[in-house]
Amino acid sequence: MIKFKAGDKVKITAGKDKGREGKIEKVFPKESKALIPGINMYKKHVKGFQGQKGGIYDIPRALDFGKIALVCPKCKKVTRVGFKIVDSNKSRVCKKCKKEIDVK
Ligand SMILES: [Zn+2]
Repeated sequence: MIKFKAGDKVKITAGKDKGREGKIEKVFPKESKALIPGINMYKKHVKGFQGQKGGIYDIPRALDFGKIALVCPKCKKVTRVGFKIVDSNKSRVCKKCKKEIDVK
């Protein structure tokens, strides 16, 4: 089961951006990683070609699921994700407040 989805608010629990918060832009389920803009940035040197300017760009690198924790949209606490079956669909639930995360 995939714990995280694009649009989730997460807190960084390890690494150089520990303690910061961000919003997931993209999830890579096969690699168990998530891309969070502004988090885990690294410098990439790009050569100019075909009229494009070269230089050094800051690019976010996807973070391991193990280094992020979900911030529950209902209780606003950092939580772990559980699952339950609702109408034969698997739904994510907050382990702290037990509310369904994906229900708006
Ligand atoms: Zn909650």
